[in-house]
Formats: sequence, C-alpha cells, structure tokens
Amino acid sequence: MTPQQAYEALLQRAKEIAYLNSVQAILGWDQEVNMPAKGAAWRAEMQAYLAGQVHRKITDPALGDLLAQVEASDLVADPLSDVAVNVREWRRDYEMATRLPTEFVERFAQATSLGQQVWGEARAKGDFSLFAPHLAQITQLARQKAEYLGYEDQPYDALLDQFEPGETTENVQRLFSELRQALIPFLHAILDSPVQPDPTIVEDRDYPIERQRILAELAAAALGLDPKASRLDVSTHPFSTNFGPGDQRITTRYHSRNFNDAFFSVLHETGHALYDQNLPQEHYGTPRGEAVSLGIHESQSRTWENLVGRSRAFWQYFFPLVRQFFPTTLADVDLDTFYFAVNAVKPGFIRVDADEVTYNLHIMLRFDIERAIINEGLPVEDIPATWNALFKEYVGLDVPDDRQGVLQDIHWSSGAIGYFPTYALGNLYGAQFFAQAQSDLPGLQDAFARGEFAPLLDWLRTHIHQHGRRYRAHELVEVVTGKPLSHEPFMAYLRAKYGPLYQLP
Ligand code: ZN
Repeated sequence: MTPQQAYEALLQRAKEIAYLNSVQAILGWDQEVNMPAKGAAWRAEMQAYLAGQVHRKITDPALGDLLAQVEASDLVADPLSDVAVNVREWRRDYEMATRLPTEFVERFAQATSLGQQVWGEARAKGDFSLFAPHLAQITQLARQKAEYLGYEDQPYDALLDQFEPGETTENVQRLFSELRQALIPFLHAILDSPVQPDPTIVEDRDYPIERQRILAELAAAALGLDPKASRLDVSTHPFSTNFGPGDQRITTRYHSRNFNDAFFSVLHETGHALYDQNLPQEHYGTPRGEAVSLGIHESQSRTWENLVGRSRAFWQYFFPLVRQFFPTTLADVDLDTFYFAVNAVKPGFIRVDADEVTYNLHIMLRFDIERAIINEGLPVEDIPATWNALFKEYVGLDVPDDRQGVLQDIHWSSGAIGYFPTYALGNLYGAQFFAQAQSDLPGLQDAFARGEFAPLLDWLRTHIHQHGRRYRAHELVEVVTGKPLSHEPFMAYLRAKYGPLYQLP
C-alpha cells in the first residue's frame, strides 16, 4: 500500500465514523426535543452501543498503522497542508481514544445517559439527593478517565484538554484571576450607578410565543443562517447540534412574558450553527472540516449573541421590527430604553440568564468546584454548600435552593467535566477576534445598523471557519490577532459599552 492509498483508507474510515457520529447526534437531539420519559432506558442502551461502536472504530490498531505510514511519507511535508493537519489531529484523537478501554467508554455513556434523565427529575423537584448518587458515579468515572488519559501537572488538565486541546489548568487559572480582578470592581461601579435600566420591559411584559418564534427565525436568517439547512425546535435547555452537511439544529425555550430568554438564546445557538455551516464542507468528517475547540465554538456564539446582538447598531436595525411584532407591549418604549434594557447588568442565580458582566463569574465558580472534585476529591454531598459559598463570594448573593444553584446545568449529568471553562474562554476569544474584525472592517457597526451582517460572517469564515482544526486555539488567536489570548480586549469592550450606558465616571 502506498502512502496515498493509506491516506485514502483513512478518509474512508473517517467517513464511516462521521455517519455513526451523525446518528448519535440525531438520537441525542431527539432525546432532548421529542423523546417521552419512558424511552430513557432503551435510549441509554442504544447510545451506549453506538458509543462503543465508534470507540472500536477509532481505536482499531489498523488505524494506527495507516497513520504511521502517512506520517513517514512526504505527504505531510508541509505541516499546514490538509493531509498533514488531518493526520496530526487524527493521531491526537487516536492516542486519546486508545487510552480508554471500550468497556469504560460504554459504562461512561450508560451512566451519563441515565444521569441526564435523573438530573431532569431532580431539577424539576429541586431535590439534589435524587441526583447525588448518579453524580458520585459520574465524577468517579471522570477521575478514572483523567488517569486513563494521563496528564503532566494535575488530573484536571486531562479533562480540560478533551474540550480545549492544548489548554492548561494553570493558564486558565491565571486568565480567570486577572479577569476577576478587573471584573469585580467594574461590576460594583455599575451596581452603584444612579442610572439604571428597566429590565422588566423585556422580562415581564406580554410577548406572545408564536410571534417570538417567527421573530427568532427572522433574526437567525438575517445573521446568515440558511433556513434550508437548519431547524429551530424547543427543548428544556437551549443547544445546537450538527447532523452533517446541510443540517444544523438549534433549540430554544419560550416564555410568554420574557422576550430576552428565547431571542438571545436563538442568537447564541445561531452563532454555533453558523460556525458549523461555514466550516469547509468538502472536508466534513475530517479534522480539516471540524471546529478547533469548544472555546472557539463558544467565541462564535458569543460574538453573534452579545458583540453583535446586544450592540446598539443591531437594535437600530431590529428595534423597529420588534415594535411591529409587539406594538402594544412596546408602545411606550424607544430604541435607547430598549437597548439599555437588553443590556441590564443584574446579578442573578442562573448562568444562562446572566448578563455579559457577571457571566464569567458563574464560570469561575464551576471551574473552582470541578478542580476541587477532580484534583482534591471534594465529596459529592459537599458540592451544594461549596457552590453556595462561592456564589456569595463572587456574585454577592445567597442561593435560595439547589434548583437555582447546583442543579441548574445539564453538564455534569452528561459527564462533561472540564467543559465549563470553555464558555469563559469563548468570551475572551470572541472579544479579541471581534476587536480585530472591527479594526479590519471600519464600517462594521454602520453595516449592522443597515441590517448587513455578511461582512462580519465573511470575515469570520476567512479568518476562523475556513481553517477547521488547522491551528490549535492558542495558535489561531495569534495568527488572527498577532497576540496571545488575554482578558484585556474583553474588558476594553465592556468598558466602552457599559461605561456610557451606566454613565460611569
Ligand atoms: Zn454555547
């Protein structure tokens, strides 16, 4: 077999794995959107079976031999070529996967599929004790996973690296600590300002759900999401998923007296779907056609949700339309009042409802708890109290119950420990990319005000999407902005926006 034939065999195997991954994505989406509760046990078995099938394929020793053949050839002479990028990233995925025994992968999938169902019940009842034994099992499996994967410095590094390749706990701790030092005094200045918005305009008035849904679809399409290649549905927890070329799915949830929740979660999930839709589709199923990391994925969702969707320019274009949809509700509201209301800084308990200023504090708390669980063996029964104490310290509020505290997120029930930091990294990456886009495209805000979002989407496609996994996240930010990731562009963005809004000195 020539190296070229070996590479073609690898492409064929990647395609078979991509088919199975798409089937898993469809089952996972259906579980959240359609599945009746009694289907949970059989669904968990199916998911575990498929996860095992994928695991067998990605750990097949023949794959290692094929990779070695291409690695030893001149097909990978240029390290940034498609072949070299695919082989480098396949090698990483292969090494990581072969460290996990198939039996372990199946056990993990079964525990987390069931864990998610029980978490849903526990959350509805506000009863942490229902979920605790499942969480104990899941954190135990996560610790075991860290040992299988291996790490240099601390076990948490291994879990973080699954979602943010090349990132380290130490670097995230440094970034978060610098950010927190700038953020907390800034938050207090905002809360102390005599000028305050009226968030009830968007959170406690009549917004008929059917009109919200139509408006959300219009907004997603305006930003560039292809309505013939995507679908919007309803689930408890908004998410986006990728079934394959031409099929991106996003979900939201509607409340008849809250405009913000559905609208901004749709913009957020649209940002994720735009990344998936604009990755090079001809490379679908190979690293050249895949997202860099969860942090970079989140940088895209946060860009469209916040940097675009909460900008004054965006609302210059959109507010007249929103007022046509809800004429009575917004009869007494003008553009600037509305713009201030959708940018209200209001410390609250729920991460997904958090404003741009407090959001990262919610992430820091989860990062601290996860490190305590994985590195220091924090017992599961101590998690709620630890959560509440940290929440008081960072956000300044007393958590009234576990529904609004430790039970609010699906992540731990799905085994995604090491995932949360990627949200805050996404905010930082997003702000740093966006500052660069604004400097490259001087008329960007004026374009938004005219309802033109294609210049930004084109810029993101050219500088970020088209590369797939060519660069690691920390390399990509240097390639695009000339600097390593820092909290400074994010803080500069917050100051430039919220300083005038709250008339800060
Ligand atoms: Zn997201």
